[in-house]
Amino acid sequence: MPRYEFRCRECARVGGHATFEVDRPMAAASDPADCPQGHSDTIKLLSTISLGGRAGGGAPAMAPAGGGGGCCGGGCCG
Ligand SMILES: [Zn+2]
Repeated sequence: MPRYEFRCRECARVGGHATFEVDRPMAAASDPADCPQGHSDTIKLLSTISLGGRAGGGAPAMAPAGGGGGCCGGGCCG
């Protein structure tokens, strides 16, 4: 089952951990998802979570375009 990464705008607004992951069928890929804190103001990011394992430091998704794989993992297209 694919894993999708979401970003919660509400958590981002308060400076918390704004991203979370959801395992779901591809058929439900575009469905909205509440964040673990129960907020519904979330956006789906490109599902690159399984490629490199971005646990820990660094924020490659925040790099400008041309830095690798994803184009807008940082939310610039939200
Ligand atoms: Zn939230």
